[in-house]
Amino acid sequence: MTPRLPALTVDELTTALGGASRARRVLRWLHAGHAIPGGLPARLDGVAASAWSTFVATAAWTPPAVRERRTGADGTTKYALAFEGTVVETVRIPARGRSTVCVSSQAGCTRRCVFCATQTLGFERHLRADEMIAQVMVARAEAPSDAPVRNVVFMGMGEPMDNLDEVLRAVRVLTQTPAPQLRAQSVTVSTSGVVPGMRRFLEECPASLALSLNATTDELRARLMPHDRVWPIGELLGLLRADATRQPRREFFIEYVLFADLNDTEADADRLVALLDGLGARINLIPHNPFAGSDLRAPSPERVLAFQARIAGRGRRAWIRWPRGQEIAAACGQLARAAGGGGALYLPS
Ligand code: SAH
Repeated sequence: MTPRLPALTVDELTTALGGASRARRVLRWLHAGHAIPGGLPARLDGVAASAWSTFVATAAWTPPAVRERRTGADGTTKYALAFEGTVVETVRIPARGRSTVCVSSQAGCTRRCVFCATQTLGFERHLRADEMIAQVMVARAEAPSDAPVRNVVFMGMGEPMDNLDEVLRAVRVLTQTPAPQLRAQSVTVSTSGVVPGMRRFLEECPASLALSLNATTDELRARLMPHDRVWPIGELLGLLRADATRQPRREFFIEYVLFADLNDTEADADRLVALLDGLGARINLIPHNPFAGSDLRAPSPERVLAFQARIAGRGRRAWIRWPRGQEIAAACGQLARAAGGGGALYLPS
């Protein structure tokens, strides 16, 4: 099936519309940052009327409806977006001078990480590239003018490596000229660690890669992330090391969710530094975000800081990702259609 409008590359649009300048015109219009109307307009300046009407007849597309929108105290906004047969969550996170959109790649998730609320939904379906890009478009249209969307992270619901064709297309389109033209380094795909998918991603895509490591031993990692197949930490990091010599400009992130009394000891911090020796990756420490039905807890803030200090003492820098949007259940690992504060669930239509 041909991709829907937001997922078309400039070359595909050129073929469909019979001209490169028409294709560029459509892309500039689509990504001008405004809310996209419920249906495609009958005419578009700069595109021959006959070419446009033929295109619209075959490529009907409507943006997703915003089912629910919640904004937390710091401006973090969680959207529940209605796509065919499902509801998916997207988060916009403002920072100084720019905003980040956290995109979902699946409705539910193919993986079963015990610490993540999304796994409680099970797996519903893969999202298409146009649905991932539409999430960015909806969030971008509402970003504050002093904090436009510059970064996209595939860290919402789902495991991107299990839906890689569509994720690769979405990244390719998000970074294409003339629009939306995000920098490849500003797009980050996050994975629970799926070796075949990671290998292909590293070969085909220049975007940044985040590896959710979350443990420093294979034994604990398999308990926390009990997938059908769990690859050894050594193999996961080996892939990153090999790529770093091939593509030195790529950025890597190591995500490490901190759990009280599970992976927050000094020995864990020491092992983490040893594992990452020689690998130029940014370490992000994420205190665990709670959700109903889970007994897991974050360490105290003092203990999180002590973990960071221990890493620093070994000559490595780590950043702490203090929760954003926890009160609206929009923080990492809380996307399960819950409203936050024990509120109602969003239900798929
Ligand atoms: N499946 C992908 C992307 C979605 S999870 C992945 O695993 O990377 C995005 C990030 O949130 C991951 O780093 C994951 O480890 C983290 N995360 C999941 N549940 C969390 C929770 N309850 N608290 C804090 N971080 C969590």
